[in-house]
Order: sequence, then C-alpha cells, then structure tokens
Amino acid sequence: AKHQGRNRFSYYLPSMRNEAKRRMRLSNDLRIALEEQQFKVYYQPIVDLADGSIRKAEALIRWQHPERGLINPGEFIAIAEETGRIVEMGDWVFQQAALQVKRWRKCYRPDFQVSVNKSPVQFQNDETFYKGWIEQLRRLGLNGNSVVIEITEGLLLDNKPIVNDKLLLFRDVGIQVAIDDFGTGYSSLAYLKMYDIDYLKIDRSFIRNLRPDSSDLVVCEAIIAMAHKLGMKVIAEGVETVEQRELLRVAGCDCGQGYLFAKPLPVQAFDALLHQAKQV
Ligand code: C2E
Ligand code: CA
Ligand code: CA
Ligand code: CA
Repeated sequence: AKHQGRNRFSYYLPSMRNEAKRRMRLSNDLRIALEEQQFKVYYQPIVDLADGSIRKAEALIRWQHPERGLINPGEFIAIAEETGRIVEMGDWVFQQAALQVKRWRKCYRPDFQVSVNKSPVQFQNDETFYKGWIEQLRRLGLNGNSVVIEITEGLLLDNKPIVNDKLLLFRDVGIQVAIDDFGTGYSSLAYLKMYDIDYLKIDRSFIRNLRPDSSDLVVCEAIIAMAHKLGMKVIAEGVETVEQRELLRVAGCDCGQGYLFAKPLPVQAFDALLHQAKQV
C-alpha cells in the first residue's frame, strides 16, 4: 500500500506542476491574444420552429491561435475567468456582436437579435460592465432589444441583490435575458418567478436522447408549459435531428439551435446563410 501510495504521490506532483505551468502559459497567451486580436466571434443561428426562419444568432468566441489553429472556448474560458481576462474578452465579444446585429437588422430583418454569453465572474467582479454595454448600444443607435444576455442558473441562485440590480438595469434599456443550460444547474425553480427572464434555453443533455416515449420528452414538455405560463419563451439547444426538431415543435417549443440548422459560423458564412434564407 505504501509503495502504491508513493507511486501515486510521485505521479501526482509532476503532473500538478505541469498543470500549473500549462495554466500559466495559457494565461499569458490569452493576454497576448487579446493584444494581438487573435479572437474571432462565430455566430450560430437560432431558428423559429413554427416557420423555420432565423430569428437570432448566438455569439460564440473562438481563438485563432497562430500555432495551434482554431481553439474552442471550452479550452480557455475557465482560465480566462480565473485570471479575470474574461472581462476584457466579454466586452470585446459584446462590441463585435453589437456591430453585427446592427448590420443584420438593416439587411436581414429589423427584429433580429444577437445573444451574448455572460460569465458569472463578469457579473460579480466587474461592477460597471453594463454601463459600457448600454453606452455602446446607444452610440450605435441600437435598441436594447437587439441583444439577449445569456446567464446561467447559478448566478440567480446566489440571490445577490447586485445581480438583480444589474438585470433591472438591462431591463430598463430593453436588453433581454436568457437562462442558459437550463435544467443542469440546480433544482430550485423559485428564482424563475423572482427575476424577469425572457428565455429559457433547454440544455442539450435533455435533447440528445429525445424520443416519442422518452422521459426527456416529458421533461421538455414540462419546461415548455411552465415557461409559457411564466411569460417566457423556450429555445432548445443541441438540436441535431429532424426527429428532435419535430418533437420539440409539436411540444410547442418556440425556437431551436443546433447542428441540424447550422454549426457556429464565421460572419461571412452567416451572411451567406441569411442571404439564402431571404431568397426562399
Ligand atoms: P453554450 O453557451 O452552451 O454554447 C453552446 C455550445 O454548444 C457551443 O459550443 C456550440 O458550438 C455547441 N453546439 C451548438 N449546437 C450543437 C449541437 O447540435 N450539438 C453539439 N454537440 N453541440 C452544439 P462552444 O462554441 O464550444 O462554446 C462552449 C461554451 O463556451 C458555451 O456554451 C459558453 O458557455 C462558453 N462561451 C462561448 N463563447 C463565450 C463568450 O463569448 N463568453 C463567455 N463568457 N462564454 C462563452
Ligand atoms: Ca450560451
Ligand atoms: Ca448552453
Ligand atoms: Ca418576461
């Protein structure tokens, strides 16, 4: 047992050191990436299930690394949150998204919306982010309802007055709020009636195994019924098959997002998609 323990010990230490090194390198690379503008925003369509039209786009950050190529946020968001770089990153994504939605409102449809992910860290650490965001919309001459902020359930569960204050400030200018990954965080639903939420995004894990006789369908139907009664709309995440789309549509789900419609796309490809959508 002792021998085994020593082995584990000697295995663990170097890997911890490597992990610390890896994180330090990543953190430094993130700083450079911000300076050298290596980030890109991709956009994934959010589709109205009733008529198939593209209503919104979710802005999703990518890192165009000079050596490693395109890196997904799963690899760097956590570290960006820990080091605080998420604040700058989030402001930049918001700025890009606002510029794009202005274009899309002009050339595609006047009620188009872009949704932006908001890390809980950003909510807690940056006391004034909303001022910059609201100011930016004003400067672009954009209505607040051009933008949806996606937050996670955990943020609301903390029940910090400061969170509610900021959500209320958003409301004042018409910015809408969506709960991301709904159903994965906490079982308490009390917060849903405490805050004025516009959209619930049903987490992909409930959609993945959706079948006519599955318990996941029961869960989705219940979420949709509850959301509608509370005045919210529902977006299903991770829709990959026609069957999933149809089950959700029949269940009354408002919108869908997923590879069935399109993967997250660079601006040019998203433009082409909208162009195509307008022709038919
Ligand atoms: P999320 O907000 O839940 O975003 C949806 C993720 O699901 C995206 O991954 C998207 O590419 C992926 N996805 C969409 N449709 C499908 C599908 O049909 N099947 C599958 N398997 N996946 C699908 P992505 O872009 O890698 O982003 C991962 C997470 O990183 C996001 O999850 C979000 O939490 C975070 N993130 C991305 N961009 C930002 C950002 O600008 N700021 C912050 N704070 N977080 C971000
Ligand atoms: Ca999201
Ligand atoms: Ca999500
Ligand atoms: Ca509402």
